[in-house]
Amino acid sequence: MPMIDTRIKVMAAPNRYVFGPGAVKELGRRKQLLGTKAFVLGGTRSINAIEDDMKADFAEHGLNMVHVEKGVRYCTKPEIDRLAGKVKEVGADFVVGVGGGSIMDLAKAVASVEYGAGVPIALINTIPSTDAPCSALSVQYDAKHAVEAVLFYYRSPDLVIVPTDVTVQAPVKWLVAGMGDALATRFEAEAVAISYSGNALIDGGRPPSAATKLAQFCYENLINYGYLAKLANEKQAITDAYENVAMANTLLSGLGFESGGLAAAHAIHDGLTNSPGRFQAPKPEHGDLVAIGTIAQLIMENQPKALLEEVINFCLTVGLPTTLAEIGTTYDDLEMCASATCNPAHPYAHNNPYPLTVARLVDALIATDAIGTAYRDKFMRR
Ligand SMILES: [Zn+2]
Repeated sequence: MPMIDTRIKVMAAPNRYVFGPGAVKELGRRKQLLGTKAFVLGGTRSINAIEDDMKADFAEHGLNMVHVEKGVRYCTKPEIDRLAGKVKEVGADFVVGVGGGSIMDLAKAVASVEYGAGVPIALINTIPSTDAPCSALSVQYDAKHAVEAVLFYYRSPDLVIVPTDVTVQAPVKWLVAGMGDALATRFEAEAVAISYSGNALIDGGRPPSAATKLAQFCYENLINYGYLAKLANEKQAITDAYENVAMANTLLSGLGFESGGLAAAHAIHDGLTNSPGRFQAPKPEHGDLVAIGTIAQLIMENQPKALLEEVINFCLTVGLPTTLAEIGTTYDDLEMCASATCNPAHPYAHNNPYPLTVARLVDALIATDAIGTAYRDKFMRR
């Protein structure tokens, strides 16, 4: 990140965020934000889950689906180029991304002025597994699914829809992964605020206190409602607790990280994506790696036992990893992963109130594993 003017504070958000059961049918009445010729892309199951509602809504408001691309998965450079070319070829005037985090990232890149077709974007988030729908950036992966680049945009998403009648049908592991992603938001925003670092916007500045506060509110929702939300989600029941957490995962975490800023936890995630063992089943998700990154960040900040215990017990209660074995990382991988994280050019690894070095991080990850193992053993015996 370039040096920022520490007097300037910047906040961003999607143009509209629409949340609740049946929200898929909220797109058409907002066509002024988008256009009338849609290029729909997403996972096959996600598109199938909303296709009937979307067709009815489009028919009612005079919109056309000029192309539907099912079966897309990852946000990679060849995929962005291929789909952006197709958007232009079929003459679509806006993009609709349907799915979870990687589809949100891919759709934003495909629609973006910077890397894609330069058209408006609607995101229908059917899997509340990350905070990707609300931000103006995408994480681009390479063919081996390691983080290759972070693509930043000047424009935030035009329309974000979170249909809770659809999200509640997704397997509960996705809500849990989203909680892992959202767990870091408070601690990263606080690290950015006290180190006078910049937030995660391309034209950013320091975080306004409103953004830091949203990040803290995100954490409160997880601690107060995370477990209750998981239990409701297991029975596909839409409760207030479930909606609090689905909104924390998507909106509060999204605004909190983007305007509040990213720090060590996500940078550790980026480094951990290089460990070869993470492709063994069960493959850890973004939020799983971020949860480990969060615990390691708290250790590097020398946070007291009470706070570490709260975070680790939260992870154990909802089913997030607390040990390296659970994310497929071995002690032999740590030096390589930590070196990737500590790269001086990393956009947010150094937004901390202490110097982040390979040696400090390797030790913090070993301590994460030791502490996480001890609490896990205790939890299992209960
Ligand atoms: Zn994240």
